[in-house]
Amino acid sequence: MEARSEGELYRLVIIGGGPAGYTAALYAARAGLHPLLLEGDEPGGQLMQTTTVENFPGFPDGVQGPELMQRWREQAQHFGAEIRAETATRIDLSQRPFRIEAGGREIAAETLILAMGASARRLGLEAEKRLTGRGVSTCATCDGFFFRGKRVAVVGGGDSACEEALYLAKLAESVTLIHRRSELRASRILQERVRAEPKININWNAVVEDIYDVAAGKVTGVALRDTVTGERRELSIDGLFVAIGHVPNTALVKGQLELDEHGYIRVKGTGPGATATSIPGVFAAGDVQDPFYRQAVTAAASGCQAAMDVERFLEGSSFHDWGLAGTGSAADAQR
Ligand SMILES: Cc1cc2nc3c(=O)[nH]c(=O)nc-3n(C[C@H](O)[C@H](O)[C@H](O)COP(=O)(O)OP(=O)(O)OC[C@H]3O[C@@H](n4cnc5c(N)ncnc54)[C@H](O)[C@@H]3O)c2cc1C
Repeated sequence: MEARSEGELYRLVIIGGGPAGYTAALYAARAGLHPLLLEGDEPGGQLMQTTTVENFPGFPDGVQGPELMQRWREQAQHFGAEIRAETATRIDLSQRPFRIEAGGREIAAETLILAMGASARRLGLEAEKRLTGRGVSTCATCDGFFFRGKRVAVVGGGDSACEEALYLAKLAESVTLIHRRSELRASRILQERVRAEPKININWNAVVEDIYDVAAGKVTGVALRDTVTGERRELSIDGLFVAIGHVPNTALVKGQLELDEHGYIRVKGTGPGATATSIPGVFAAGDVQDPFYRQAVTAAASGCQAAMDVERFLEGSSFHDWGLAGTGSAADAQR
């Protein structure tokens, strides 16, 4: 068996303890890479903020987000992944091995998987925090099903808000789009679809000032303030979807790696090396590189791909030839 590390030199360090990071750790550990995973200040990632997850395959009756993540973490540890509840405070990608500062120490890594996720932008209300997972959501694909035949509202005016509203219109009794301006920022085609959808009603020039009812532990309505007149009014709803954007957690690698205009890490995208970034040996998985799907199962899938890409990279296969390269690697042998 290979040495786990030389001092603090690891063959693979994974940054992020969500679905992408834990899956990468599980695959890399089973492949004998003895990975170190730093899980930061939200061990388990975004699913720790939710209650029932109904769309993760293998759980016909649903599973609680924290339970799923706890079991996922244990599975990675079971195969030998070393998991530390530490946050990377500095990442230096200027040379290999890469250098990571965490817990007051420096760690060197031959390869890196960045899986720091993304954070949904929030309204910043206390009630929003308390009611997240209890009627307040940032993901219609994840939670829309819980609001079949109910009244929901979506906050936002961009593409995501319109997409969320259109998705929810297929399930909910009514959808109110709450937007602080008098026109939407979304693309013309989405605006047209929203306007053509009879279930969607737009509440212009309005901001959410409060969400009810924290004491009851569920959403029953919101207090809105008119941004033009200052008038306050209330709206009765059963669910509130906040769709005002996501921020990828890429501050530590900004200026070192190629990011897109919204700060997501750019990856190659398809085929072997799909998770490769602009720096050889650095791979990215999950929401940190995915502005579109943002699901646990897609994050998990890219975590698996990243671990297999790392394996091939460490085996020395020519990275740029992967599109043409044949089979027969250890990655294939694991299947
Ligand atoms: C409330 C809610 C409900 C959801 N419900 C569903 C659902 O029902 N079904 C579904 O498929 N998806 C759901 N999602 C989306 C899903 O949770 C995400 O798509 C998924 O968690 C992304 O996984 P990830 O591993 O890429 O990142 P994340 O889950 O965001 O994990 C990121 C990890 O990186 C760590 N990290 C960040 N910075 C550092 C650092 N500097 N050092 C070390 N670690 C760091 C964090 O602590 C965290 O552990 C939901 C999301 C939310 C917010």
